[in-house]
Amino acid sequence: SARESGSGAFRFYDAALGEGMERRRTLERDLRRALALRELSLAYQPQFNIGASKVTGFEALLRWKHPLQGWISPVDFIGLAEETGLIVQIGEWVIRNACREAARWPDDLRVAVNVSTVQFADANLVPAIISALAESGLPGDRLEIEITESALLGDHETALSVLQQIRALGVSVSMDDFGTGYSSLSLLRSFPFDKIKIDQSFVRGADADVSGVAIVRAIAALGESLGMTTTAEGVETKEQLKRIAQQGCTDAQGYLISRPIFPDQIVPFLSTTPALGMVQDAIQALPAHGRRND
Ligand code: C2E
Ligand code: MG
Ligand code: MG
Ligand code: MG
Repeated sequence: SARESGSGAFRFYDAALGEGMERRRTLERDLRRALALRELSLAYQPQFNIGASKVTGFEALLRWKHPLQGWISPVDFIGLAEETGLIVQIGEWVIRNACREAARWPDDLRVAVNVSTVQFADANLVPAIISALAESGLPGDRLEIEITESALLGDHETALSVLQQIRALGVSVSMDDFGTGYSSLSLLRSFPFDKIKIDQSFVRGADADVSGVAIVRAIAALGESLGMTTTAEGVETKEQLKRIAQQGCTDAQGYLISRPIFPDQIVPFLSTTPALGMVQDAIQALPAHGRRND
């Protein structure tokens, strides 16, 4: 009967939900232990300045190697870390570790660290940055903090004050995934950013459709007039690189230049990567007006 099949469907739904919750609880328990067990590590993806045609730094990206499940993407555990508050402890580890590793790089290279909205609202963020810099000896101007729009949607005065305290350390602040939120433009007006990172979706779009091209061009122009650099995220092809350079982006990041790499690959990457020469050739082929230099 309908009633039977209805309750059967309900039971099935219940079981699936229960499984999801069980999986989530297991993941949470494992994530709590991941730090202590040293299962977390950082991969680094190069950031490339188009005008200078060179790598200027690396973005630190969290990696988790689960003993049974293998590599788990941050997309699949950052949300859980935020909900449980674990992100604060994990995020502090990320800042400390990124500063320590970057202090060993050639001193013209910077490191960018993602700070979650939950961590941005934590009172210990600024002290954590200060002690990471002090412990590692990394000068503040070699550290960048990346936040997304949602970090700024809470109390305006508090958010502004945190940004100002961070910048007072010489640390720069980037707006990540720009264009994906609801109030991108007004936030740029109210908060002092050094860099806008244009979300991958627009960079992909810049390939194919007219509106993608127009949007990237408009953001790059906006950045220039506000004194901010603009990084195109997710650049995968030479065509995309040429296009975003022509549209006025100052910097690029993406698989074309390199996938995220582990710390021991950084020095070899900087000295020998043929891919980098290929990128540089694409840039040299651009008319000079297609390159902004800052
Ligand atoms: P995000 O900060 O916007 O980082 C860029 C993401 O795009 C990274 O994914 C990177 O591997 C990926 N990516 C870079 N170039 C390309 C490309 O050419 N094509 C494609 N398809 N993807 C590209 P990942 O490492 O999986 O990180 C995803 C997100 O997780 C990050 O987005 C960031 O929001 C978050 N995340 C990563 N590490 C941390 C961390 O240490 N703390 C916090 N709070 N969030 C983090
Ligand atoms: Mg980022
Ligand atoms: Mg991003
Ligand atoms: Mg993102």
